Amino acid sequence: MQQVLVLNASYEPLNVTSVRRAHVLVFKGKAEVIEELERPLTSASSTFPWPHVIRLVTYVRVPRAVKRKISRRALFARDGWRCVYCGTASGRLTLDHVVPRSRGGDSVWENVVTSCAPCNLRKGDRLLAEAKMELRSPPRPPAPVLFISLAAQTIPRGWQPYLHGFGGSSATATATA
Ligand SMILES: [Zn+2]
Repeated sequence: MQQVLVLNASYEPLNVTSVRRAHVLVFKGKAEVIEELERPLTSASSTFPWPHVIRLVTYVRVPRAVKRKISRRALFARDGWRCVYCGTASGRLTLDHVVPRSRGGDSVWENVVTSCAPCNLRKGDRLLAEAKMELRSPPRPPAPVLFISLAAQTIPRGWQPYLHGFGGSSATATATA
């Protein structure tokens, strides 16, 4: 299924949608087509450009505090599929609460990290200082681009210029024509 990248009026990537929904937004004048595919979109009576990247005409305010649910996949992707403590990318990855739940730690992006099973076991129910372990960088909520990458099976080549500079990593993106 072909997907369409949706940009805010500011060109910031917002999300991924279906061709049908993108076309409705364009048809209603709520969005403009920035990139189109060479094939036309045909209906019974007319043809339209096949949207590939669209841009909303009106800026949509996206609250920074917007709570995206934590999923294992998104969390592992945010942390580059590596243990944040020892850096290993092999073995079984687990979710670790930096401040353990038993010590009042919340299940929020700022408190949950990717950990290999041995590091998770070593840390146990302790705080970082108690376990003499460190985080390389403080965990943060991921950029919207991460969810775009996860929602799309592959990142089409035509999207890449629009994701660049918004936290999109070309290393993890698979280019397709
Ligand atoms: Zn580890």
